[in-house]
Amino acid sequence: MFTSLSDRLSETFKNLRGKGRLSEADIDATVREIRRALLDADVAVAVVREFTSRVKERALGSEVSQALNPGQQVVKIVNDELVRILGGNTRRLNLAKNPPTVIMLAGLQGAGKTTLAGKMAKWLKGQGHSPVLVACDLQRPNAVKQLQVNGERAQVPVFAPHPGVSSEFEASTGDPVAVAAEGIEYAKQKLHDIVIVDTAGRLGVDAELMQQAADIRAAIQPDEVLFVIDAMIGQDAVNTALAFNEGVDFTGVVLSKLDGDTRGGAALSVAHVTGKPIMFASTGEGIGDFEQFHPDRMANRILD
Ligand code: GDP
Repeated sequence: MFTSLSDRLSETFKNLRGKGRLSEADIDATVREIRRALLDADVAVAVVREFTSRVKERALGSEVSQALNPGQQVVKIVNDELVRILGGNTRRLNLAKNPPTVIMLAGLQGAGKTTLAGKMAKWLKGQGHSPVLVACDLQRPNAVKQLQVNGERAQVPVFAPHPGVSSEFEASTGDPVAVAAEGIEYAKQKLHDIVIVDTAGRLGVDAELMQQAADIRAAIQPDEVLFVIDAMIGQDAVNTALAFNEGVDFTGVVLSKLDGDTRGGAALSVAHVTGKPIMFASTGEGIGDFEQFHPDRMANRILD
């Protein structure tokens, strides 16, 4: 993950280390290298521009630290700025004062929502919660079944829409908005304190899908709306994120497939362009491949 970006930046910094003093030309050359490395990593142009201009301004400015030499100082500035574009502080899940907490998942088909639903349920269960999954992806024939498989792996119940799937957890209708609402009623009755609602995704951003997600959001008033995005999609990440931000006004981002050889563009652009924090990372196909996202640790990983 981020290997190439990480290598490029460390190469750039190698040239700075040990310099007693940095000239403006040194700083210019460094910022140029950083710009190229970020663009090659598919980071959105606007984000790169802002990032590099802040690094340059701070490096040229009067930030002097007794403890660091000038080269180290630039590395620290880059580190700080990476943390900033990744969203700053770790943002934890917003739990409802009156349970159940409702978490809605949205994103393109194949982004990793259904897989994430299982991972998140297992993670929450491990923290003493009692989650239930609600299957509102009625677009794809296999989606309900897939959520049930993930529910079994996480050992949490799944509230499903199709008759005959499971008599105990069955909704009365095939309308995703109604299924979501019934799922929440079900959670209340059975004293589940967290409801995770999986929704339909399409291959591309689609007005009908977005309206459906917006209708579900309006009906169930979730405490969190998590936008799941495949970190491998590169430059498309920004437009997709902006479309979902407008369509469902999500509250947080989940980066999935961070285990792949992602160049980093999505991770480094999405929080910044939407103003919404990255909250979780999905890092594999296994049920335990899931972690809270910490901007500072991610910046360290990139600069390691
Ligand atoms: P959905 O359409 O958004 O519900 O996406 P799915 O959860 O069905 O995931 C699509 C594909 O990506 C599946 O084959 C998953 O096994 C795979 N997948 C999901 N999350 C990850 C991840 O974090 N890493 C990897 N390598 N694969 C993932």
